[in-house]
Amino acid sequence: MDEPHADPRDELFEIATSVRALVEWYDGTGAWGLPLAPARGQVEPAYPAAEPHEAPPPNPRAPAPPAERRPAPSDATFAQPAQFTPPPERAPAPQFTPQFTPPAPPAERPQRAAVARPEARTPEARIEQLRVLASEVASCTRCGLADRRTQTVFARGNPISELCFVGEGPGAEEDLQGEPFVGPAGQLLDKMIAAMGYRPGEVYICNIVKCRPPENRKPQPEEMDACKGYLAAQIELVRPKYIVALGATAIQGLLGTTEGITKLRGKWKMYRGIPVMPTFHPAYLLRQPSAKREVWTDLQEVMARLGKKPPARG
Ligand code: SF4
Repeated sequence: MDEPHADPRDELFEIATSVRALVEWYDGTGAWGLPLAPARGQVEPAYPAAEPHEAPPPNPRAPAPPAERRPAPSDATFAQPAQFTPPPERAPAPQFTPQFTPPAPPAERPQRAAVARPEARTPEARIEQLRVLASEVASCTRCGLADRRTQTVFARGNPISELCFVGEGPGAEEDLQGEPFVGPAGQLLDKMIAAMGYRPGEVYICNIVKCRPPENRKPQPEEMDACKGYLAAQIELVRPKYIVALGATAIQGLLGTTEGITKLRGKWKMYRGIPVMPTFHPAYLLRQPSAKREVWTDLQEVMARLGKKPPARG
C-alpha cells in the first residue's frame, strides 16, 4: 500500500494525474467513453460482443467446417433438369418373323359331304364319288334322325342327269326300301316325269334329309342343316342343268327361305348357280288333285328350258 500524503492537495494532484493517464490510455485505444459503474442494486449489463474488424486467422487444428448443405431439389428441378439430355432413341427391336404359316382358323362345322370333289371331272369319277358319298351317308349320325331309321335313303335315278328332283325326306316305304319316292307319292312323281318326256331312271331324285323323320313329320331346321352338306355334294357331283324342288320343305332346305310354297311355286330361283323351279309335292297332289294343273304349268317351264316335249300319245 502507498504511503499516505501529508498535504491533501498533493494527493489530489496525484489522483488527477492518474485519471489523466487513464483517459489518455483509453483514448489511445480508440475508446469513445468510459464505462459507468452500475447503480447500486443493479445487475451489470452484459456488453455486446465487439464486432471483429478482421476475420481471425485460420486455426490449422480446427476441424474443417461442415460443407454447405445444398438446398433440397424441388420437384421442378427434377421435372425440368436444365442440363438433361434425353438419351438417344432406342432402335426398335427387330421384328420376329415366324418361320411357319399359322393354321387357318377353324371353318364352319365341317360338312363332310361338301368336301370338294372337283377332281371328279369325268362322269365315271363323279359316279364313283357319289357311291363313296352314299356309303358315308349310310353311317352318318350327325342328327337325331339316325336313331330311328331303318336305313338311309340316298337317291335313285341317273347320277349324271340334266334334271334333278329334290323332295323333303323319306317316308315309311322309302325307309324300308332305301330309295326315295317309292310309295304312292313316288308313283305319281314317276308319271309326272314321264309326262315331261323322260324314260324311267333318266332323272336324278333325292331328298333334303336322308333319314326318315318319325311319324312322317317335317324335318327340323337343325336336321336339315346337319344334312345339307350331303345334298350340296350330291348336286355338285350330279351337275344338273335344272332342279325341281318338290314342296315347301324342299325349297326351304335349298334356299333357306321361310316363304310358303304357294307363294314360291312357278318362280325361278337359284341354288349354287343352278336354276330351281319350286312346285307342289306329289303327296299334296294326292290330297289335292286340282293342284296338278299348276304343277304341270311349272314343269312345262322346265321342259321349255330343257327343250323337252311331252311324248306323243300313241
Ligand atoms: S338325316 Fe342326314 S344328317 Fe341326319 S343322320 Fe341322316 S344322313 Fe345324317
